[in-house]
Amino acid sequence: MFYNKFGDSMDRQIMHIDVNNAFLSWFAIWRLNNGETLDIREIPAVIGGDETRRAGIVLAKSNLAKKFGIVTGEPLYQARKKCPAIKVFQGDFKVYREYSNKLYNLLLEYTDKIERFSIDECFLDMTEYLMNSTLLDKAIEIQKRVNEELGFTVNIGLSSNKLLAKMASDFEKPNKIHTLYPREIESKMWSLPIGELFMLGRKTIPKLYNMHIKTIGDLAKYDKNELIKKFGKHGKMMWEYANGIDNSEVIYKYEPPKSIGNSTTLAKDVQNLEELNKILLTLAEHVTFRLRKYNMVARSCKCWT
Ligand SMILES: [Mg+2]
Repeated sequence: MFYNKFGDSMDRQIMHIDVNNAFLSWFAIWRLNNGETLDIREIPAVIGGDETRRAGIVLAKSNLAKKFGIVTGEPLYQARKKCPAIKVFQGDFKVYREYSNKLYNLLLEYTDKIERFSIDECFLDMTEYLMNSTLLDKAIEIQKRVNEELGFTVNIGLSSNKLLAKMASDFEKPNKIHTLYPREIESKMWSLPIGELFMLGRKTIPKLYNMHIKTIGDLAKYDKNELIKKFGKHGKMMWEYANGIDNSEVIYKYEPPKSIGNSTTLAKDVQNLEELNKILLTLAEHVTFRLRKYNMVARSCKCWT
């Protein structure tokens, strides 16, 4: 349960959006939009570094590449052994940024409380933006619009906090919407292996295995104080996460306005300079307040001629 500063319980409406196979999909769409006819999502293809250097690795793969047993992170020469016909593309970070921004701009139509968690993941706080619809209605609409207008698929997780929404979006992929509300934790999350828990480090897994903690449910039911004794703050956090507890806010920034100004109409003409200065000062105070709020600066220009 989440409480506001007055201590009232307040269920939040949180969405986590995760682009399916982002680097490969975005690069595929960008190629198609730039005159190419081959959709690299439909062939065995990978996004990777420079294949002539042995250091190049697979950063993303198409579904067909996956069928050849190619995995993310493996060297490109190894991928080519598995599938000699594989097409390797270098990808382009500028393209990823462009499509990430397109997604963000579309999401801004639904809420201004958006946390860009990574280039292809966002948290949305929809609590104050649902009007008469449900979170699920909004998710269906967003997913459809992203498909139709931007050309790629997303997984969406719905819940009352960020952790659960994030865990939900990671369930079956692609192009799926999942819920993981507190009442569903036991049935949907507790049977998962411990390594699937958000923020659980790889080094922690063998330690938990030694304590006979193998599933998220095992961790949730373990003695919290024992975990704190053994892992400190991190132990408290992992116990809370296993129990679906997360009070962290969606961290968003207001989009700065294009320009900031202020004006007033006086009841009568003012001839007195001192009085005019007072009025100007008030106007300037308002403008600078907003400038500070958005962390913006201004420079002077010739205003009066
Ligand atoms: Mg993703």
